[in-house]
Amino acid sequence: MRSGLPSVGEIQGSAHTAEGNSISVIVPVYNEKESLRLLVPQLITVLEGTGRDFEIIVVNDGSSDGSMEVLAELSNRDSRLKVIDFARNFGQTAAMMAGFDHSRGAIVIPIDADLQNDPADIPRLLAKLDEGFDVVSGWRRTRHDAAIRRNFLSRCANWGISRLSGVRLHDFGCSLKAYRRSVIGRVKLYGEMHRFIPIYASWYGARITEIDVAHHPRRFGHSKYGLIRIFKVTLDLMVVCFLDRWIGTPIYLFGGFGLICLLISLLTLIYMFYLKIFEDLSMILTPLPGLAAMAFMVGVMSILLGLIAEIAVRIYFDTPGRTSYAIRETKNLAPGASAADHFH
Ligand code: UDP
Ligand code: MG
Repeated sequence: MRSGLPSVGEIQGSAHTAEGNSISVIVPVYNEKESLRLLVPQLITVLEGTGRDFEIIVVNDGSSDGSMEVLAELSNRDSRLKVIDFARNFGQTAAMMAGFDHSRGAIVIPIDADLQNDPADIPRLLAKLDEGFDVVSGWRRTRHDAAIRRNFLSRCANWGISRLSGVRLHDFGCSLKAYRRSVIGRVKLYGEMHRFIPIYASWYGARITEIDVAHHPRRFGHSKYGLIRIFKVTLDLMVVCFLDRWIGTPIYLFGGFGLICLLISLLTLIYMFYLKIFEDLSMILTPLPGLAAMAFMVGVMSILLGLIAEIAVRIYFDTPGRTSYAIRETKNLAPGASAADHFH
């Protein structure tokens, strides 16, 4: 599995002409040919049962097992099944992003292709959205993956993500979730960040809830992930937390740290002179000169980094349509920046 380069955002999507309560289901696929033959008919049955307009967008993420041939055949039979075929494997997040970009539904529902999520849960997700929520997150309360290597680690990760982000959910990793388009808007996803969409949505003031969903053991093929995912998710989480708090004013973070370092350097210097004058202790015999010099240098570097980050932020927000704020609604104003233009 390789993750997304070039930027997934470069795959430009159609205009978002979401209407009413139409549904777009997004299915990232990497070598899932057996599952697809079962999943697609199941999805169609469930979605027809809702009585709403729908489309299923399957993103073939560089499969080498003939998944694309299966998709070509299935999509010939039903035009509501739309297929995007990636030129190579870009990763699940990129595949999901391409699906979002090309989808038109007012409600967007990603789901795994491997039948571990159950399409039968979709109507319950929709019912929650109808209660007025903007994001309904699936929670695999009973999971059927490896006990320690997957389930235990995932529980720890979810606890950490929930604490750090302030978004109280039990299962960020579950793909099956339902989003109102207004809260995902033009969200841009990189790395492994599809897990954090509810966090982005919370920045727009989204109302978020979760429901139990079924989780089945994998019947065909195998999981596409190993332990390396833990590092990626940890680093992605650091990025998300950084963006959340500091994107507007990075100098407060870098500069704040820099000033603390300079202060440490100054106090060390004072202490050094104190020892010299009153205790007659040679500075060279203590580690203090080294400490003072290092703290000074780190402090100056950090402040300079902060200044560079400020320049980067100015360039970043210069991009047309990007603002440092999010508007839910306006009155008597022509449609301008919408919530979706916020940040990412
Ligand atoms: N997937 C993908 N690209 C990748 C890896 C995975 O599109 O590079 C898809 C995969 O086909 C499946 C979903 O993402 O539909 C979840 O992957 P997987 O089942 O391997 O993850 P797990 O359930 O083990 O967390
Ligand atoms: Mg799976």
